[in-house]
Amino acid sequence: MLGRMPEFRNLIGGELVPSPRTMDTVNPATGEAWATIPAGGAAEAEAAVEAAGRAFPAWSALPALARAHYLRKVSELFVRHAEELARLETRDNGRILRDTLKRDLPGMAHLWQLAAGQCLDAVKGDTVLLGSDTLGLTRREPYGVAVCIIPWNSPISTFSAKAAYALAAGNTVIVKPAEQASASVLRLGELLAEVFPPGVLNIVSGLGEEVGDALVRHRGVAKISLTGSTATGQAITRASAEALKPMTFELGGKSPNIVFPDADLDAATQGVTVNSVYTGNAGQVCVAGSRILIHRSIWEEMLGRIERACAGLVLGDPLDLGTTMGPIVSAGQYERVTSYLELAEKEGARLVFGARTGADVVPALPGGYWVAPTLYATEDNSLRVCQEEIFGPVAVAIPFSTEEEAVAIANDSPYGLAAGVWTRDLGRAHRLVRDLRSGTVWVNTFRQMPPGLPFGGVKDSGYGHDSVLEYTREKAAIIQI
Ligand code: NAD
Repeated sequence: MLGRMPEFRNLIGGELVPSPRTMDTVNPATGEAWATIPAGGAAEAEAAVEAAGRAFPAWSALPALARAHYLRKVSELFVRHAEELARLETRDNGRILRDTLKRDLPGMAHLWQLAAGQCLDAVKGDTVLLGSDTLGLTRREPYGVAVCIIPWNSPISTFSAKAAYALAAGNTVIVKPAEQASASVLRLGELLAEVFPPGVLNIVSGLGEEVGDALVRHRGVAKISLTGSTATGQAITRASAEALKPMTFELGGKSPNIVFPDADLDAATQGVTVNSVYTGNAGQVCVAGSRILIHRSIWEEMLGRIERACAGLVLGDPLDLGTTMGPIVSAGQYERVTSYLELAEKEGARLVFGARTGADVVPALPGGYWVAPTLYATEDNSLRVCQEEIFGPVAVAIPFSTEEEAVAIANDSPYGLAAGVWTRDLGRAHRLVRDLRSGTVWVNTFRQMPPGLPFGGVKDSGYGHDSVLEYTREKAAIIQI
């Protein structure tokens, strides 16, 4: 980009509004600032809630099929602008273009279509005959103004998974993207300003503790959905406690990926490496299978296979379609990931391969935030590196002897987002689906998240999941005839 950096603006009440304060957004592959984004605060939060509140009566009164029409237009826009949006997001957060262009944009175009098809579900109720002259009815109603707070690792996807369903249900929406990577969502705002009536969809960027906090405390906000860390979920719960707001929380994870000796080991190797913790997002994936549980009889073989698979990963410019692993999103996240490398060493985990410190890694591009794919081995699942979410390309391998022991280790975690099981034994597959305490269990696959199936967690990984019904509440009517 020659000359001035691009400046992105908030979308409030149908207008693209400059913010009096801005902040730089950085390309994590090079460490260079490349654009400015609004650093909104209480004033922007107030304006967005006011605009969304004003738009709510007309939007919620539209027939469901009229709302569906708007949602289909968003899907078409995702198809038309796929290349532009994918490149923008990759530049902003380092998620490889292979994933943003080939996986996220087509997937989200599909999701907006699906949400359009579900607009009718949001207005379906039940009839209950309470007696020959008494009729019970239920009505589903939107909450009102919904605030959707999203993280930086897949902004367009998390934006879509929340906004599409919230809008389908008849809510008006304020999206708060993450300060580390807001550009793709703010660009979407420019495009969507032409699609929705003013105030139906608003986007305000800024720090979580500033504009995010002001939004969740606001009395005009009726529903909150967060995808982010457990600590943020707790902070939002405290901040909004006075107003008792319903929440949907999709939070962190430390997911087990369990390999039994009867598995197809080629598929399992792929499933625990490139489809899991060493992905295009460099392990910055909520469902990353960052605890790899391996049966003792195949322990050495699997460690060797994982190392060879990781040696084939291509770290480099995420905008290059040949790249298979990108950078860490920010300087702050880089410090966090590398601090865990030092901790693993201190806790006595054995380095199988990868980086002993961040400085060990030859940067794929100068100036960027790079960490090599790294694997530790330990017998002790109570180590902090086994219990805490690292959110980088760092996994821990843990051996087990029996199915019961595998389940016990897998469940010994504060988190419960997802789990993977690799086995050809159908009975075992079903037992583990039953016994693993997590929101999703994948068997002989990993990281498939088809829209239409619930995606959420248990324990510290949150509760609820984004869907049309999640953005409605039920009202009862009893009619004496
Ligand atoms: P984060 O919790 O730091 O930030 C998430 C969002 O919350 C950002 O927009 C941030 O600005 C906002 N926020 C922070 N503090 C806030 C406050 N006090 N009030 C209101 N908003 C606030 O998380 P992150 O570092 O951006 O993302 C990584 C985390 O997200 C990881 O824990 C990861 O597992 C999780 N994640 C979960 C899923 C899922 O679906 N379960 C998906 C992706 C990421």
